[in-house]
Amino acid sequence: MQPPHGHRLRLLAPLLCVLAACAQGPRIQWNHPSVNQDSRVQFLVVHATEIDFATSLQVLTHGDVSSHYLVDRDGSIYGLVPESRRAWHAGPSYWEGTTPLNPSSIGIEVVSVPKGMPEGTEAPFPEPQIAAVRDLIADIAKRHHIRPNRIVGHGEVQPEGRTDPGRLFPWSSLIDAGLIPAPDPNAVNRFRQAFERDPPGVRWLQEQLSAHGYRIQCSGVFDGPTKQVLTVFQGRYRPGQVDGEADPETLGILAALTSPDGLRMRTSRDGWRALHVDPPPQARCLDP
Ligand SMILES: [Zn+2]
Repeated sequence: MQPPHGHRLRLLAPLLCVLAACAQGPRIQWNHPSVNQDSRVQFLVVHATEIDFATSLQVLTHGDVSSHYLVDRDGSIYGLVPESRRAWHAGPSYWEGTTPLNPSSIGIEVVSVPKGMPEGTEAPFPEPQIAAVRDLIADIAKRHHIRPNRIVGHGEVQPEGRTDPGRLFPWSSLIDAGLIPAPDPNAVNRFRQAFERDPPGVRWLQEQLSAHGYRIQCSGVFDGPTKQVLTVFQGRYRPGQVDGEADPETLGILAALTSPDGLRMRTSRDGWRALHVDPPPQARCLDP
């Protein structure tokens, strides 16, 4: 049904926009989309709250930090910041040459402390919670086409100050779900045996850590920051022994992860496929 003065109002509308600033903003035609675009979301950062759920919710909604999602220990998922907006979860972070990561990442906080327990309490992550984290990561990674090697822990992107989600976080569950890569054990063994005979130098170690994604100086000196990065690396890839030492097994895992045929993704219960990172990993050492 047409209102009695509809025609006259349509004629007046452009004039009213000029006089009183049009509420709809400039008229834009969206019928020629470019094929050359992708999501602004390139990275996914997993955190552990290190405080219980109630405190986490308070801090992440009304403190001075935030994350896109908060996953409680019963598997409930809370969306706190829309994915299209920036959450304040990763601070002065770095991965594969990109810094900081907040503008181009999604942050997931996983509640790591049982209800009523003090800050920093370490407890295994319950299975319903891990299942929820798995589903959430799968969904986000698929929608934004996030590369598997860009699904990282907070400690990996900020090793100088953070270690979360910590050594108890079951990365193996994400490997089994085909969401993140794992080092090929044959490649790890091959490199480990070679390094037992002939250990590589510290500069090689730092270059490989840089190629894997970490922010690090390649000084050739086994300094405090190098040990810290190595500790974070072990926390994710060899949680059974996290001591910051460059032993042959740690070096073998690192060499596999940065070699062209050393990464693989699970495709089924028994199946794997090689993951070729394009462009291949390259060292981006900071100037000493
Ligand atoms: Zn964190």
